[in-house]
Amino acid sequence: MGIFKLYIKLNLYHFLFLSFINCKPNQKKNSTNVVKNSKEKISAIAYSKYLNNDYVLGKFDYTKNADFRIVPKEKSSKKIYVRKEVLSAFLKMEKAANKEHISFKIISGTRNFDHQKRIWNYKWNDKYKNIPTIKRVKKILEFSSMPSTSRHHWGTDIDLNNLNNAYFTKGKGLKEYNWLLKNAAKFGFYQVYTSKENGRKGYEEEKWHWTYLPLSSIYLNFYNEQITVDDITDFNGSEFAKELNIIDVYVNGITPELLK
Ligand SMILES: [Zn+2]
Repeated sequence: MGIFKLYIKLNLYHFLFLSFINCKPNQKKNSTNVVKNSKEKISAIAYSKYLNNDYVLGKFDYTKNADFRIVPKEKSSKKIYVRKEVLSAFLKMEKAANKEHISFKIISGTRNFDHQKRIWNYKWNDKYKNIPTIKRVKKILEFSSMPSTSRHHWGTDIDLNNLNNAYFTKGKGLKEYNWLLKNAAKFGFYQVYTSKENGRKGYEEEKWHWTYLPLSSIYLNFYNEQITVDDITDFNGSEFAKELNIIDVYVNGITPELLK
């Protein structure tokens, strides 16, 4: 081996050693620190990627995006894609939960603009069609986002186990929810739509919807800097986005601590 090759090899080992030290799971109990640290680690990569209007509005093909992965089928209810960073953190969290005989399945992950539009237009044209328009928009907005305002567009947010709050208030569901409240933050996950008793605006509580904050906080910041109500268009009732102050009340109507 030439001296140059040896030099390169030693440098490589040095780099791998340093990476190993940096990648050790964060043991700190303080969840804010965990987020801050993982956020710093990930931001250098994430900042340079996908910070564009089409990405945050869900107008891109995540099935052809190199940074999205399909969730293994034993951990999902159907074919679901999420960002690779999110899948990796979720699998670590799930493994930790398994040790306490708790398991999680992702029942919804990334949804693009067209998918969200199908959900929205079904509620508009079918489910709630007999409600007067402005009331109809508010009714849909209890649990569904206007297309181009959903966090599910970003590949950072997941719905877990059951789409019903009642499920998480007793028995198995309550155990799962309590586990998440205690442990999810260690893996970067936070409940987005908590109880509205603390003054949170927007959607109703969703005990199933969790976000991978190290990534989603970057996209929310970008959204707030670049997107206006004029970008929220091309579906039934989109003309109400302005009147309802959709970006302030709904896009930013998340658990207050997550906005800091
Ligand atoms: Zn959700």
